[in-house]
Amino acid sequence: MKRKISIIGSTGSIGRQALEVLEKLQDKFEIISLAGGSNVELLMEQAEKFKPKYVCIGKPKEDEIETSEASSYKGFKLLYGAQGLDEICSNKENDIILVAVSGKIGLRPTLKAIDNGIDIALANKETLVMAGDIVMKKAKENGVKIIPVDSEHCAIHQCIKDINQVDKLIITASGGPFLHKSIDDMKNATVEQTLKHPRWNMGRKITVDSATLMNKGLEVIEAHHLFGFDYENIDVVVHPQSIVHSAVEYKDGSVIAQLGLPSMHIPIQYAISYPERFEGIKTKSFSFAEIAHLDFEKPDYEKFPFVKLAYRAGKIGGTATACMNAANEEAVFAFLRGEIKLFNIYEITKQIFDEHKVIQNPTIDEIFEVDETTREKTRELIVNNIAIK
Ligand code: MN
Repeated sequence: MKRKISIIGSTGSIGRQALEVLEKLQDKFEIISLAGGSNVELLMEQAEKFKPKYVCIGKPKEDEIETSEASSYKGFKLLYGAQGLDEICSNKENDIILVAVSGKIGLRPTLKAIDNGIDIALANKETLVMAGDIVMKKAKENGVKIIPVDSEHCAIHQCIKDINQVDKLIITASGGPFLHKSIDDMKNATVEQTLKHPRWNMGRKITVDSATLMNKGLEVIEAHHLFGFDYENIDVVVHPQSIVHSAVEYKDGSVIAQLGLPSMHIPIQYAISYPERFEGIKTKSFSFAEIAHLDFEKPDYEKFPFVKLAYRAGKIGGTATACMNAANEEAVFAFLRGEIKLFNIYEITKQIFDEHKVIQNPTIDEIFEVDETTREKTRELIVNNIAIK
C-alpha cells in the first residue's frame, strides 16, 4: 500500500526537494495535498505533475486569482489560506504531513495534524522554538510521531537506539560563510556575501541565520524539545565540511555519529519513509577516501553570540524562546531589505529579548500574542534606529 502524504510549503526550498524525492518514489507514496505560498505559478505546475486531491494557495479567498487559467489540470479541490491548511491537516486520509514552511506559519497546521493523529515530518524549527512544550505534549497524548527533517536532528534520530543510554547530544555546525573571517569582515558583510553559504543550499532567512549561527541556537532548542535533553547535555561543535551531521554520546563514552554528503534529500527522504529506507534519489556512494579529512573546532562565541543567547532563552523557557525567535526573524528581514547591518541583528534581538517579560507555561494564544507584540516592538526599534542614523 502506498503511504499517503501532504506537503505544507511545497514551493519552498524543502518542499521542492521533497517533490524531487517523491518523484523517485512514486510506487511508495501517494500525494494527497500540496500547499504553497505566493508562488501560485509553481504550485500549479506541481499540481499538474503530481496530481494531488487538494491544492492550497497561501492567500485568503478574497484575493482569488485566475488559477483556472494557470492550470489545465482540474482534478483537485482548490483551498485557500489558513482555512485551507486546516482542512488539509484534518484529513485523516493522510499517513504523514511534511511541514516544510518556514516561520511561525508552521505552528497551527502542525497542531491541527497532531489533533487529528497524523504523523509529522517536521522541517519547521520555529514550531518547536515557539511552542515545543505544547507540541511535544500533545503529540505524546495523541500517539503522533514527530520525525525531524532538519539534518542535525535527523542524524541524532538515526543515532539513538535506546534514548535512556544516551548522555549527550552533539550538534554539528558548518560555521557558515564567516567562520574564518574577522569580526570586522562580518560587521561589514553585504547581503550577497551573507547569502553565499559554503555547504548548504537553503532559503534566505535560514541562510542568514546560518551566517550568524542563530540557526544553531534554534537547533539546540529544537533538540531539547524533540529528544527531551537538558541544555547542559546538548553541545555544539563546528565542523566546516558538513559531513558529520551530528552525533550522540552514550553513557559508556561510545560516540555514534551519522555521516553523509551535505544534501537535504537524504534527511527529507528518511523523515517521510521512516522506519523504512529506500534507494530513492541516491546518486552517489559515500567515499571516506575522497573526503580525506574532517575538521572540528569550538564555536567562537564572541563572533557568534547568538548561540549563547539561544541557550539562555532555552533555559529560561516559557515565552523566552518565542520572543527571541520573533525579534531575530524581524531583524533578519530588515537586514535582507538592506535596512540594518548583519551585526545589528544580534544587537536588536538581544535588546528586545532583555526587555521581554517572560510568561511561564503559556497557552498557544499567549505565544502568538508574544510573537506579534515582539515583532511590532522590533520593527519600531529598527525604524527608530534608522531615523537616528
Ligand atoms: Mn540544520
